[in-house]
Amino acid sequence: MKKEPFVTKEQLDKIAQEYPTPFHLYDEKGIRANVKALKEAFSWNEGYKEYFAVKATPNPFLINILKEYDCGCDCSSMTELMLSRAIGVVGSDIMFSSNDTPIEEYQYAEQIGATINLDDITHIEVLEKAVGKLPKRLSCRYNPGGLFKISNDIMDNPGDAKYGMTTEQLFEAFRILKEKGVEEFGIHAFLASNTVTNDYYPMLAKVLFDVAVRLKKETGAHITFINLSGGIGIPYRPEQEPNDIFVIGEGVRKAYEEVLVPEGMGNVAIYTELGRYMMGPYGALVTRAINEKHTHKEYIGVDACAVNLMRPAMYGAYHHITVMGKEDMPCDHKYDVTGSLCENNDKFAIDRMLPEIEKGDLLFIHDAGAHGFAMGYNYNGKLKSAEILLREDGKTELIRRAETPADYFATFDCFDFYQKVLKK
Ligand SMILES: *Cc1c(COP(=O)(O)O)cnc(C)c1O
Repeated sequence: MKKEPFVTKEQLDKIAQEYPTPFHLYDEKGIRANVKALKEAFSWNEGYKEYFAVKATPNPFLINILKEYDCGCDCSSMTELMLSRAIGVVGSDIMFSSNDTPIEEYQYAEQIGATINLDDITHIEVLEKAVGKLPKRLSCRYNPGGLFKISNDIMDNPGDAKYGMTTEQLFEAFRILKEKGVEEFGIHAFLASNTVTNDYYPMLAKVLFDVAVRLKKETGAHITFINLSGGIGIPYRPEQEPNDIFVIGEGVRKAYEEVLVPEGMGNVAIYTELGRYMMGPYGALVTRAINEKHTHKEYIGVDACAVNLMRPAMYGAYHHITVMGKEDMPCDHKYDVTGSLCENNDKFAIDRMLPEIEKGDLLFIHDAGAHGFAMGYNYNGKLKSAEILLREDGKTELIRRAETPADYFATFDCFDFYQKVLKK
């Protein structure tokens, strides 16, 4: 499918006059349409709830939009819990799906009433020590091991993942928790990431529903929710077919009716913890070409770098690039599009065929709305950019300012050095 920016060149020129590049731009209209469709696709399930994976896009203004649609928050750190609480997402609207969890985080999660999703059987004891008495409602994360093969070319390797309990441990954990007075149980698993196929959730649901039925029979646990977690992907490449959330919702419903309903489990709530799917396509990194270089290869240097979007450097991930205003020009130039880090992997594209780029051109780097800004770091002393929301009415709003040197040096504010380095 042709990938088109959610802004026109004229709009973006105007925005870039007001806010210096680089910046992350988010599309309110797209976010709303997508969350509406998701909710509708799972509306057959009475207790359905999406817990947005805060780590994907930890911006309170964006999460507040999702909150209007009753989305909760999936957190896995202290600051993510703090962010959720501050926007009024508390209690069972928080799923705490952490791992390698420090005691203080369990204490805080319990204090604000989050539903805790235990990553490991040893954490029953850790949690008990942390909070005294176990909460009445708990979830366990499952990892069946092996390969999770969805099709010939789509699979992931849970056997190599650090998350979750083995089948034996899951059963044992349920027995122990039941003995200790837990009354409401949930099961969670995340077995494949960024799946661009309609089959992942239905297949995962079948695995979890089967194990839920067995758990109920063998341990007598009262299972009230099943959490399909994240993993629904987005088509980063133009040749990829996007997921159809309605087909996915139907697939999960079919498995639900085949496996759970006949066992008298027709009131189990389905939860999701989507991140990428909720925000990925509705955010872009906007950057300007500022240099060109002709050596052994043709380079275009832009004013963003891996600090603003790390996925290409980290995973070799493809992010589509539109050169604004040149959408219809032939892609007859082969470029490496680079940032300024002293790291040769700081490239947004390698050997990419693009229209001829001139200094000053605006580049729209697609699908940066999730795991984009959030993954940023400060290598080479580079500062993180602003985040801007394009409202439905076409107006823009600053939803996070850009970092300044004072932010970069803030952790020295208890030393004389801090005053010196910021002195004009
Ligand atoms: C990262 C993560 C998610 C979200 O994953 P996406 O691929 O962004 O959908 C959900 N749940 C947990 C526990 C995660 O770690």
